Amino acid sequence: MHLCRFNDTRLGVFVGDEEIADVSAATGALPQVTWPFPAGDLLVANLDFIRDRIADILPDAPRLARSAVHLQSPVANPGKIIGAPVNYHRHLDEARRDTGINFGTEIKTIDDLGLFLKAPSSLIGCDDAVLLPPLDRRVDHEIELAVIIGKSGFEISPETALEHIAGYAIALDMTVRGPEDRSWRKSFDTFSLLGPCLVTSDEVPNPDALDLTLHVNGEIRQASSTKALIFDVRKLIAHASSVYRLYPGDIIMTGTPEGVAPVQAGDIMECWIERLGRMNVRVAERHIAAAEQAGGTA
Ligand code: MN
Repeated sequence: MHLCRFNDTRLGVFVGDEEIADVSAATGALPQVTWPFPAGDLLVANLDFIRDRIADILPDAPRLARSAVHLQSPVANPGKIIGAPVNYHRHLDEARRDTGINFGTEIKTIDDLGLFLKAPSSLIGCDDAVLLPPLDRRVDHEIELAVIIGKSGFEISPETALEHIAGYAIALDMTVRGPEDRSWRKSFDTFSLLGPCLVTSDEVPNPDALDLTLHVNGEIRQASSTKALIFDVRKLIAHASSVYRLYPGDIIMTGTPEGVAPVQAGDIMECWIERLGRMNVRVAERHIAAAEQAGGTA
């Protein structure tokens, strides 16, 4: 099932690539929670149950064209977004060729670096634009396989790790290059992107063999496969859960392959991952986008 969120409060299911069934009525079956809310994303935590409701209403659900809706992140409220630094060998090679201001002087892999966290407030969906902050600095695209946790766990073994996954999505881990800590460089508003939908884990039998590509304005930039991951998905979940308890809706961005490069205002990033779909994401200047929005609502 390809689940999406659109127009802020609507839940959808992709029917093919261009049509969405509005199954928002299924969310009426979610538990009524009161403060303090349980940890994790409420929809993802109840996904098995909600999927049954969706299956019931899907045949009669209203259909909309994908182009007529605004897609948001399919996970509305992740407790945390976990990042994997330098998790492809060829990305390590390119980082070593480009040291100094962009990548620092001593480049290591995930084996040395551990993991990092991105602010959940940086998360957007594919119909929102990535906004460049007013800094004279290089901002790079990083396409990544995103794993969405479905079942809570701590100290999860690699052998049972896949049982904790609700689904997968395409992620962008946008990054300001420079010497600052990753949590600063990768947590600007709009610098985490998830889309176009959450593909449930039953549709992805092997997450460690998915081809992926990223083009910018029609030109190929990144092309690889998750086969080249240094820490595969099982090992990432085991590693992350040895540090943080994982909750439903937590997102693990698994790292980016070689080919990272700067983006500029006006660029379109065309992202594709096998089995997960495709999405075109706009890049804009933050202050110009804000001015346009103010003008549009005046
Ligand atoms: Mn990354």
